[in-house]
Amino acid sequence: MGAIKDVVDLTEKLANSVKDRKFAGDLLAIQRAIAALQTEHASIQEKDIELMGKNAELQQEVHRLQQKIQELQKPAQPKEDFVEQNGLLFKRKPDGSFHHAAYCPRCKMPMGSKFPEFTLQCPPCNTMGNINGRQLDNLIIEMNKNLKS
Ligand SMILES: [Zn+2]
Repeated sequence: MGAIKDVVDLTEKLANSVKDRKFAGDLLAIQRAIAALQTEHASIQEKDIELMGKNAELQQEVHRLQQKIQELQKPAQPKEDFVEQNGLLFKRKPDGSFHHAAYCPRCKMPMGSKFPEFTLQCPPCNTMGNINGRQLDNLIIEMNKNLKS
């Protein structure tokens, strides 16, 4: 408001010293215009404060939505229902029993052994299981038996 106040002070000083009536009339018109400007200025300031508040609200909302977007962009967890047993992963069938296969705990690919006496191994990543093919057969039979009981 500094500049407006300066003009108000100056016009008042002029109005007090002026002798010419025409000039005094013009000065009065200027003083009225200044008063109107002051009112306008005050309402702009009010609006400004209101907008700053609104802006802060919107910035918070943007921040919240950006976080939400980041969350949604994270890769969805695979829906496969793996169960861990003996350090290996097993997959359930829709009826709740287990598929006759063990899955790699590292890359979740099916593991296998060339012969029943060979230890299970994951072909893609070479992770070794801690049981052989025959033990796997027995383990799955056991796991499915335990389900029923
Ligand atoms: Zn693997």
